[in-house]
Amino acid sequence: MTSAVQPLLLRHPHGITAVDAEYGVRGHSAAHVIVQDGRALIVDVGTSHAVPFLLAALAELGLGPDAVDWLFLTHVHLDHAGGAGTLLRQLPRARALLHPRGAPHMIAPAKLIAGTQAVYGEETYARVYGEIVPMAPERVDVTRDGERLRLGAREFEIAHTPGHALHHHVLVDLGARSVFTGDTFGLSYRAFDTEQGPWVLVTSTPTQFDPAQLEASIDRIVGYAPESAYLMHYSRVGDIPRLAAELKLQIGEYVALAERHAAAADRHAAMRADMRGLWQRRLEAHGCRLAAGRIDELLETDLELNVQGLEAWLDRRR
Ligand SMILES: [Zn+2]
Repeated sequence: MTSAVQPLLLRHPHGITAVDAEYGVRGHSAAHVIVQDGRALIVDVGTSHAVPFLLAALAELGLGPDAVDWLFLTHVHLDHAGGAGTLLRQLPRARALLHPRGAPHMIAPAKLIAGTQAVYGEETYARVYGEIVPMAPERVDVTRDGERLRLGAREFEIAHTPGHALHHHVLVDLGARSVFTGDTFGLSYRAFDTEQGPWVLVTSTPTQFDPAQLEASIDRIVGYAPESAYLMHYSRVGDIPRLAAELKLQIGEYVALAERHAAAADRHAAMRADMRGLWQRRLEAHGCRLAAGRIDELLETDLELNVQGLEAWLDRRR
């Protein structure tokens, strides 16, 4: 079968494949396809622009759209779930799995759309996120914390993990000793890999970042003793205890820098400067040899979103 698009695939062990979600540049976001006994489970999607790439990826894996049993969405931030309604319409046998606090937003996305348009403007919204299609409620299953799920002979556990967002849950792959962590286990761009391995950064995107919840959720992920975590940004990392320690160190630093500047006249700029400094120091300690300007380029969007999220946390705490 020939396809109009060429998906970028990364093949991992245990029938796991990362499919680049084509969000901005390649290497930024990846959905994951898990195949077991000829059946498939997809974790996260990307925007509607990712959908043709995911369908082409299934074809490359020798699967038709009817081979997909589950569409698991870690949370409903649009870079993960914006295209999920569009994709679900292409998967005749799939059911969507959503956290009870996330499901209403995918069934009736008007609020999600209006919120995004308010932040980015209508034109950017249409270009970046494409169409956000509602999900038919009868095709959505709401998850319970600790619930088990099967795909062929393979068993998974679902864990509710607030901290990045209140409606975040992760998928624990018990057979592959892996966790599909969405944004709960941070972001790890491959550009920051060194001889020490991967580097990870905490994402505090608006509007539900909560440091104590996030620490507890990271501990919970580590408690499964996984060999690997699969991140949306960007795919597989090992060395889980070291990365968890790095994430918790950063959470402590985020709280300290937010509190330090809480009453500052230019709170936003002061927090930006401190978070930038923190990342530059952590990357230097990690043996990263990229120029400071290149690091700034790679992290600019995350820096801006993280500071906005920390400010939202400060305001909520008042
Ligand atoms: Zn997110």
